[in-house]
Amino acid sequence: MDSKDQSDRGFFSTLVARHGNGGRRGSVAASIAWADAQRRAMVERQLRRRGIRDERVLEAMEKVPRHEFVLPEFISKSYEDHPLPIGGGQTISQPYMVAAMAEALALSGTERVLEVGTGSGYEAAVLARLAAHVYTIECDPALARSAQERLSRMGLANVVDVIEGDGSVGYRPQAPYDGIVVAAAAPDVPARLFEQLVEGGRLVIPVGERDCQELRLIRKIGGSPVVSKLGYCRFVPLLGAHGWEEI
Ligand code: SAM
Repeated sequence: MDSKDQSDRGFFSTLVARHGNGGRRGSVAASIAWADAQRRAMVERQLRRRGIRDERVLEAMEKVPRHEFVLPEFISKSYEDHPLPIGGGQTISQPYMVAAMAEALALSGTERVLEVGTGSGYEAAVLARLAAHVYTIECDPALARSAQERLSRMGLANVVDVIEGDGSVGYRPQAPYDGIVVAAAAPDVPARLFEQLVEGGRLVIPVGERDCQELRLIRKIGGSPVVSKLGYCRFVPLLGAHGWEEI
């Protein structure tokens, strides 16, 4: 049994016990089988068929138990093709968007990555399977705390550092990063984030209006930005000094 199975077993045992049917083994096993089947279908239908090709990304998406990152009332919807509320007016991103952003970072496993917008911690857990270390910064203290607790419970505390603060200015103490991914929509590309990339590093960020943005990949080549456009998307706004408003 790998750590994912143990995590699923503990998670579903707690749920089954809480909901009063005695934590019967059959219910827990059926829930684990349900989640495994949902993840396989999600990867096939939502990711592979829509063009996600990086096998490491597909494997990470198949392994990370997304149902453990959503509110209890949304567990049955956790593998559906859309974002879900996580509290505080925020969302866990659509699975396809998480995979597309991770693929754009082109990670091989040796990289140090900064994620801006921890939210539930789901994307950080996916990135933790793809990179050497993930720093993830969240401006909402309650979300930062619960993501930190969740990631620790899942045994990821040594690979993911959760920081509470304004990520629109990056996170200078651990810079530079091989990759930076911003999970919230920015009015422009924050210069501080670009500065915190290594030469050859990649920044993936939704840029545009509050209600519609373009996902951009910005590579640092010879110290200058080289921009590719990856398609349209819709994220919650990036707040803070280089976002839409002060935190
Ligand atoms: N990656 C997350 C996940 O896997 O659940 C989803 C992120 S959610 C779409 C966007 C998050 O960005 C919210 O939790 C929001 O509080 C956070 N956020 C917005 N502006 C921020 C800022 N300046 N610094 C850090 N976090 C910010």
